[in-house]
Amino acid sequence: MLKNKEISSTELTKSVFDRIKAVEGKVDAYLTLNEENAMAQAADIDSKLDAGEELSPLAGIPVGIKDNITTKGLRTTCASRMLENYVPPFNATAMEKVLDSGAVITGKLNMDEFAMGSSTENSYYKPTKNPFDTDRIPGGSSGGSAAAVAAGEAVVTLGSDTGGSIRQPASYCGVVGLKPTYGAVSRYGLVAFASSLDQIGPLGKCVKDVAMVQSLIVGHDKLDATSAYREYPNYESQLKTDLKGLKIGLPKEYFGEGIDPFVKQSVLNAVKEMEKQGAVVKEISLPSTDYALSSYYIISSAEASSNLARYDGVRYGFRAEQFDGLTDMYERTRSEGFGDEVKRRIMLGTFVLSSGFYDAYYKKAKLLQRRIQSEFAQQFEDIDVIAAPTTPSTAFKIGENTGDPLKMYATDICTVTVNIAGLPAMSIPCAYDNNGLPVGLQLIGNRFTEQTLLNTAYAYENIVGGFKMPEL
Ligand code: GLN
Repeated sequence: MLKNKEISSTELTKSVFDRIKAVEGKVDAYLTLNEENAMAQAADIDSKLDAGEELSPLAGIPVGIKDNITTKGLRTTCASRMLENYVPPFNATAMEKVLDSGAVITGKLNMDEFAMGSSTENSYYKPTKNPFDTDRIPGGSSGGSAAAVAAGEAVVTLGSDTGGSIRQPASYCGVVGLKPTYGAVSRYGLVAFASSLDQIGPLGKCVKDVAMVQSLIVGHDKLDATSAYREYPNYESQLKTDLKGLKIGLPKEYFGEGIDPFVKQSVLNAVKEMEKQGAVVKEISLPSTDYALSSYYIISSAEASSNLARYDGVRYGFRAEQFDGLTDMYERTRSEGFGDEVKRRIMLGTFVLSSGFYDAYYKKAKLLQRRIQSEFAQQFEDIDVIAAPTTPSTAFKIGENTGDPLKMYATDICTVTVNIAGLPAMSIPCAYDNNGLPVGLQLIGNRFTEQTLLNTAYAYENIVGGFKMPEL
């Protein structure tokens, strides 16, 4: 519509901000709005379009950014008190790429503090609500990124995924989310949680939007030492709906105990539909799935305890007002600046790395990581895609799991192995339960097979004729 001049970016951007004004009181997806700058960016794109310039497909489109992705001149809090007033002097590489494409930035999106959580209830500022039912959580940690898309408060968004934080909220909010292969998207400027697992990725209403944004943010970056040096396709231009001969594996461990029967059946039905279009389905086994949560929470907390050492009241953001000497200043700053979940992870991480326990916990978790990686690698020798639920149930009620961290961690059972193995994966909606809540189908691929995942998702979307958005 922008290209055909049926609408201007100014009109489009204004309509998104009107929508934000109408529904944000119910959804609480944003921590910071960028309206004035957004309108100026939109006007700039409109004049380029008027001048007949050839622009990126993202030019003039309103995009929201998770608040752990640094944005130059725009407050980046990680939903923490620690960074309440932090205005970064630089852009994350993914942000820079989105800006260079001419995207209009709507604002910064709510999340669990430092991306630790599964419901966005760990935000220091406010919980985000699920647009399908505002008494329920949107998932996390990229809850704001998923809710904003579902509620029409942004066209597409960027999130981050360390153990499921793009896919899990995408699943609960009925949108499409892609967690890229580790190393495909630069982590430069993504505030580190667990550096060996973190990845930035896109969320959108449909597969095409996600493929388009992924094509723009992917690529080697010399500012990120773990960035993979290789050529990447333009995923969007190569999308196709042909499923003939696609080999889909169904891991039996993802359909067992703890998975809601309706979720399980919905995923199996979706796979049946793909089988009708020529996909070949077989049952597989990933026996180490049982150990995935333990190894994930050990590795991620170990890395977090190291990464979060920098918030000491000296270099960034918050510092306690009253203290007695340097050690007391550190202690009070970290006690007052971090929330309970972040402190829990720092303590757990420090414990598993301590000299007495390193071998018993951290080293074992790393050995299990190897085993999980090789089980996946073996399966991908003869299948193309693994299909599984994204989450064990549909969205739960706000407050339902906050009193029990282990129960909250258990909601990540279907997503964490993917990060442990460094693989790409997506979530797309595949059904709605009797409360009208979306169920997510997870597609997992071998390293750097984002195109296969996107094509499979695109084919499925084509079969069902598109995804439902909530009425608010
Ligand atoms: N829910 C997981 C955790 O709390 C994953 C979070 C994430 O992917 N950032 O660690």
